[in-house]
Amino acid sequence: MRIKLAAPLQSDSIVDGEGIRAVLWTQGCAHHCPGCHNAETWNFDGGYWEDVDTIKKELRALVGQDGITFSGGDPMYQIKPCLEIAKYAHEIGLNVWCYTGYTYEELLTLDDPNVMEFLENIDVLVDGPFILGERSLDLYFKGSRNQRVLDMKKTLQEKKAVIVSKYQDAKKIAPLYKRDKDIYV
Ligand code: SF4
Repeated sequence: MRIKLAAPLQSDSIVDGEGIRAVLWTQGCAHHCPGCHNAETWNFDGGYWEDVDTIKKELRALVGQDGITFSGGDPMYQIKPCLEIAKYAHEIGLNVWCYTGYTYEELLTLDDPNVMEFLENIDVLVDGPFILGERSLDLYFKGSRNQRVLDMKKTLQEKKAVIVSKYQDAKKIAPLYKRDKDIYV
């Protein structure tokens, strides 16, 4: 299976989710949010194809990463390969964050048989389009106030969007960062 990427797998990011993270930059996004920082990733004909097995191999070779973040572009246009990579990331002990221009509620209406399984394999979903008028630099891991940093396990359990409580408000103090499994609440 292949995936369309905008850039090679990145490592050691500290701005694309909690902890130290690998980031997969997917190619293609139809949301076209004004002010988007990654407009070069919009074109579905751009980027390049990469084998999912190659991504897995690269991911396995990385050291010192807490998780992987799916970004782009919008990974929700390539759910099947992202699901395979997310499952593998969990197998090797990495947590999974995903950015999307869709809201969680919109994702539930997508005509894709794999969307629910992908959501089940995401720990934290940062959802919603970037809205220039709502832009703020005082937000944790998101660019505009309308976006939400969602705890996917709780969201799916409670069948409604549940925001990660420590990332609910504007930045006041750095949240405590613990290197264990319970880092989302
Ligand atoms: S969803 Fe993300 S990548 Fe797509 S246009 Fe909006 S900000 Fe840019």
